[in-house]
Amino acid sequence: MSTVISTNETDFVIANDQVKGRQIIAKRIYQSGELIFHEQPLVSAQFEWNKLYKYSACECCLYPLESCEQNVRRLCQDSAIVILHPECDPNRNMDQRIVRCPKCNEMFCSTTCYQQAMNNYHFTLCQSNENQEKDQLIRHIIDLWRSVHPPPETTSISLVLKIMAMLKQTDNRLILLQELQKFSQGVQSENQQFYHKLLRKEFETQVEQLRYALEQFNEKYIQLAEFKWFLTSNGFRQLLALLGRNQQGVGTSSLALWVKNCEALSEPQQAIAAAAAATATSEASQFIDALYTKIDDISGEFIDCEGSGLFKLQSCLNHSCDANAEIQYLHNNSTLSVVATRLISNNEEITINYLSECDRNRSRHSRQKLLQENYLFLCQCNRCTSESAEPDETSEEESENDMEED
Ligand SMILES: [Zn+2]
Ligand SMILES: [Zn+2]
Ligand SMILES: [Zn+2]
Repeated sequence: MSTVISTNETDFVIANDQVKGRQIIAKRIYQSGELIFHEQPLVSAQFEWNKLYKYSACECCLYPLESCEQNVRRLCQDSAIVILHPECDPNRNMDQRIVRCPKCNEMFCSTTCYQQAMNNYHFTLCQSNENQEKDQLIRHIIDLWRSVHPPPETTSISLVLKIMAMLKQTDNRLILLQELQKFSQGVQSENQQFYHKLLRKEFETQVEQLRYALEQFNEKYIQLAEFKWFLTSNGFRQLLALLGRNQQGVGTSSLALWVKNCEALSEPQQAIAAAAAATATSEASQFIDALYTKIDDISGEFIDCEGSGLFKLQSCLNHSCDANAEIQYLHNNSTLSVVATRLISNNEEITINYLSECDRNRSRHSRQKLLQENYLFLCQCNRCTSESAEPDETSEEESENDMEED
């Protein structure tokens, strides 16, 4: 049985399920492809390795700051590439639009983003050289984080720095603290069976160094009594688990935007001169295919500007290996959209798949293991339940330490 906590929209409600906790229930029918809601993050940040490797994104909203041509030249390590249809690249004059913080040179996509960052956290975190000791401590914290969390990245310590700075700069500290407390908490599952991956024994020393550095940062530059508990040994583990369990990945790309516009461009042309348009379209698609092959050779699978954020409403969506909705970034920034992937009936729970695209096709055993390590629950969705009857053949190959046999 579930009890309704609140109604955000007439279209769906947030309810509380005894087993799953919070959940979102549709209160009408959604067609496949329909937007269910969109939401800006409470806090978001680019991943630290992604930033180090010069994937250039707005510090505030993660909008890509390269033109498509700059983007593919960097990813292919080839400065001679000239893209077809430059008119399909809305970022072609991005150079002239970038707004830099006059003190630290940090880059933003617009004055709006710069001002929003300044008002929320950047005033505190700006590495302006005015206080070199503070700047060094921030860099030290980020270096430590990179040593704890090599790629593929899932979350970022910058989220913690931003939360601390937001708490310092906000007029409404209590509300912000209450909002943070609503995210799933705890380092272990209810039955104490699963322990969060970021807190494994092998990272213990670095996690303690990181905690100590953040404690120094709080004492010297933030002075937040309300945050002290999070920087105790136990509190810090809770904080990392909160980030790990609730973070939602964000991906943005100038290349993807240009490809999308190229594909759309060919459609109206076909009506005017079908043959010419078909030639142009096949030329463009051959060019795009060749680009992706080259990028794959040089840069591998890391194509996008990537980061993560905490989203209040999205964090109420439960996982299913057979989800009926998905996360999209329709604005090419950190504003998230939840879109139905098939028909959703009235009173059906809206679910998303927490696993990455390639992990979704793994066996039930492997999916459950990943979900346990990262989100601390044993998936019992329809797909997992139906597959439990089948022999678990692939599991043994994919995983050495078997966590779910009982
Ligand atoms: Zn921005
Ligand atoms: Zn600055
Ligand atoms: Zn499942």
